[in-house]
Amino acid sequence: MPKLKSIAVTGSTGQLGQSFKHIAVNYPCYDFTFVGRGDLDFNEPESIIDYFEQHQFDVIINCAAYTAVDKAESEPELARQINHLAVKKLAGIASNQNAKFIHISTDYVFNGKQYRPYNELDGIAPQSVYGETKLAGEQAIFEIMPVNAIVIRTSWVYSEYGNNFVKTMLRLGSERDALNVIFDQIGTPTYAQDLATAILAIVDSKDFTTSVFNSELYHYSNEGVCSWYDFAKVIFSHSEIECIVSPIETKDYPTPATRPHYSLLNKTKIKQHFNVTIPYWQDSLRKCLKNLQEKA
Ligand code: NDP
Repeated sequence: MPKLKSIAVTGSTGQLGQSFKHIAVNYPCYDFTFVGRGDLDFNEPESIIDYFEQHQFDVIINCAAYTAVDKAESEPELARQINHLAVKKLAGIASNQNAKFIHISTDYVFNGKQYRPYNELDGIAPQSVYGETKLAGEQAIFEIMPVNAIVIRTSWVYSEYGNNFVKTMLRLGSERDALNVIFDQIGTPTYAQDLATAILAIVDSKDFTTSVFNSELYHYSNEGVCSWYDFAKVIFSHSEIECIVSPIETKDYPTPATRPHYSLLNKTKIKQHFNVTIPYWQDSLRKCLKNLQEKA
């Protein structure tokens, strides 16, 4: 089986990008290049072209994105440039260079009004600029790359790196005696390291490695279900932080961007196609908390 060797990971300073960096040592068969904003700026189309004129890869994994969900409401053009237009450019480059392309999208492409986990065929209806621009990015990829692209929608990403819900709760829990957390948004947390591991299992799979495949959309999160309130409670109980958590409704915590009330993702397709085993969210959370404790 021909081995794909060179892998570019864009967004290398983000949660997912850094998780790839962390696990890359376990995959000596690949030559990873971690690409940051200093190498190419998604807000400067020319810099994307320049970079890939000088560098070619077998696989491009795009972890770069405009992820400030609330700020995107007041910066729609910048969000569109990074989440849609730059992704379109990148897909064009991947296609021209005959590289395989893996891109990450979001549960925020849905309106959250469904009562069973969303599968890849369910209707999309983003409620925010972030969700709209991420959806436009997905659609551009499938237009430009009918083959050799994989888009993975994920949800509620956290990790040892950057800013995320887990780190915010750990900080607030040590500063305050009590906190209000939303209980009417339901989903599944995703440990970035699990997602990175699943993506490398895909890259390693026969379907991905052998010649050409039809471009496909997949869903990935950890297993299980919780609200942000449950998530906070479990973070505190695993960390032995004594902070009282009270459930509040979304309407009592207004934010510029509308978020889906229900964004569970059905992972059957990715599990069946690539035989990936997905950890339960609390098991992965424990791992992350342990790593954070060791780093502290
Ligand atoms: P982060 O916000 O942690 O990282 C985003 C990355 O994108 C950073 O490396 C950042 O670089 C880079 N980036 C932003 N703007 C530019 C730019 N103009 N040029 C080049 N690079 C840029 O994101 P995550 O790792 O959490 O997310 C990974 C993927 O998962 C994204 O596609 C995101 O949309 C998706 N996702 C994330 C969720 C979450 O809860 N975080 C939920 C669902 C999906 P810099 O450090 O320089 O700013």
